[in-house]
Amino acid sequence: MIDKILGKIKAANSIIIIGHVSPDGDCLGCQFGLKEIIKENFKKEVYAVGEPSTSLAFMGCLDTIDDSVFTRSLVVLTDVANEARIADKRYSKALDIVKIDHHPYSDNTGSAVYVDTSVSSASEIIARIAMEYNLKVNEKAANSLLTGIITDSGGFRYDGVNPNTFKIASFLMEAGANPVELNKKIATVTFNELKIKGFVIENMKRTKEGFVYCYISKETRAKYNVIYEEASNALDVLGNIEDCPIWALILEIDNELRVRLRSSGPVINTLANKYRGGGHPLASGCYLNNESEIETFANDADEYIRNYKHIMNNR
Ligand code: AMP
Repeated sequence: MIDKILGKIKAANSIIIIGHVSPDGDCLGCQFGLKEIIKENFKKEVYAVGEPSTSLAFMGCLDTIDDSVFTRSLVVLTDVANEARIADKRYSKALDIVKIDHHPYSDNTGSAVYVDTSVSSASEIIARIAMEYNLKVNEKAANSLLTGIITDSGGFRYDGVNPNTFKIASFLMEAGANPVELNKKIATVTFNELKIKGFVIENMKRTKEGFVYCYISKETRAKYNVIYEEASNALDVLGNIEDCPIWALILEIDNELRVRLRSSGPVINTLANKYRGGGHPLASGCYLNNESEIETFANDADEYIRNYKHIMNNR
């Protein structure tokens, strides 16, 4: 399938790389990494489009392109599981669509779809392709892809990290990636971002079985003078609490609530599926209609933990 995707990239006149809405380091890592690799190796007209990220602005700027570019281009979807999450809906106007992803339950958008759910990041797949096909990787591509690997693997801590992940990271360092500098940039927070983390610590709740969550309304965001993205980064303070294997940050957006859901054991993407979402077994996202649905969701998450404990105790 990779041969087929590379064949289509080589045959295309122009290429547009699109990731998912609310991009993270892996999403932008794939986009900027693949863009540089295509430019460097195939000398093609290539764009990366989608939503920008303030906290990841150090990774680079996305391109702004006219609708007409789509009708003469191949779209490469990276790190995006389903149509609803594709960051630029004009993708459907493209001449052809291919996809490279690592999400479970990835839909089949595209004439050639490669999905490897065993790896922690989609950036690892792009870097692996470059390594295996002897493609040139410049410094920008190497730094972008290593950022994707570091952020989506939690700094090489999550499931899916394997000996090959380190081989690929080593390959990227040899190509010029600088993990020390990248880690500094990834870890940097704004002053107000840290303040809202304080709010989350003060206001988090815990259910009987150990679901930990905190709700951040638009009003709270305004009070702390943070944008959505800064508030959403506070998710990490809820992880790693003893006997609390599922945690979530619930954020008010437009007319609904967005849930950033994480687990250290119970599979939660099925829980996310029940609330208009999805994702990975241990990292998912979904939506609630309003504040009154938070309690129902918390009870559901609590039940997931109860069932998980039951299974673990009977092993
Ligand atoms: P996030 O909390 O935004 O970092 O999302 C965690 C993971 O869940 C990512 O891999 C997303 O692609 C996935 N995800 C988040 N929201 C949704 C959704 N509404 N539908 C499907 N997958 C989602």
